[in-house]
Order: sequence, then structure tokens, then C-alpha cells
Amino acid sequence: MEEWSELIAVHAPEKIPAVPNQPSYGRRKRGLLFWDDDFESSKYATEKMGSSPNPQFEEFLAWFMRRPGAELPERPTQELIDEADAYWAERKARIRERALSIKCPSCGVERGLCMRGKGKGKHPTEEIHMPRVIKATKELDSEAKGQAEDSAASADE
Ligand SMILES: [Zn+2]
Repeated sequence: MEEWSELIAVHAPEKIPAVPNQPSYGRRKRGLLFWDDDFESSKYATEKMGSSPNPQFEEFLAWFMRRPGAELPERPTQELIDEADAYWAERKARIRERALSIKCPSCGVERGLCMRGKGKGKHPTEEIHMPRVIKATKELDSEAKGQAEDSAASADE
């Protein structure tokens, strides 16, 4: 049963690996669903707190599972949450605007809201297909990265 106790030991807070966000034996990526409005804001807030969502959720899970010594993670201040929500609201609006202006890989619409159905039954929806949102997000992020690299390059000059 030594192997089992080793697995348990991995969950103990003092046994968190040196590189906490990397997969390792007994530790792998899991897919959970979260609403963007909470998750994206939590990403911003935890980064401002010098962390990332992963360690926070890991602490929460250890506490939830009543692991010895596990405590609830530190929560951001209301001020930071308001700042995070404002940041995400602005970013979400930019992503939506971009998504509406590019061709949808799912329904093929060139501009505006996505379409559903085929042929004469084709009708507009109030939605934007997820692949289009992802494409818009990637475009904005790579543009922002390019701008950051440009300003870093001009700072070197
Ligand atoms: Zn679409």
C-alpha cells in the first residue's frame, strides 16, 4: 500500500511540486466548465495577487475534500473583484466586436450574428458560434502580444 500513501501525500499542501502548474505523475489536466464572467475575472484577480486560478482551485478542492491542513484560498478584495470585472467586461466587448467582424468558421456568415439552419431555412440567431469567438480572442491576443514586443523592441533602441 506504499504506492497509495504516496498518492495521498501528493495532495498534502506541503507536497505541492516545485512547478505547481505542470502535469506530473498522479497530476493531470482536467476539464471543468466555468462561466466566463467568473473564470476570466478570477484569472485577472489571481494574477494581480501574484498567482493563477489553478493553485486557488487546488486549495479549494483540498479544503472541500477535508484534506488535513487544507484551508480555503485567500479571496481577492471587493475592490480587486470590481477591477477584474471591469477589465473582463471591456475585454469581452472587444472580443464580441471582433467576432462579429470576422467570418464564422461554423456557419460561414461574413459579418454580424451567426446563422442557423440550411438553404431557405437559414435564419439569424442572437448567438456567435464558439469557434468564431475563439478565433477573435486569438487574433486580439496575438495583436496585443505583437504590440508588447514592438514596444519592448523600441525600448531597447
Ligand atoms: Zn457562426
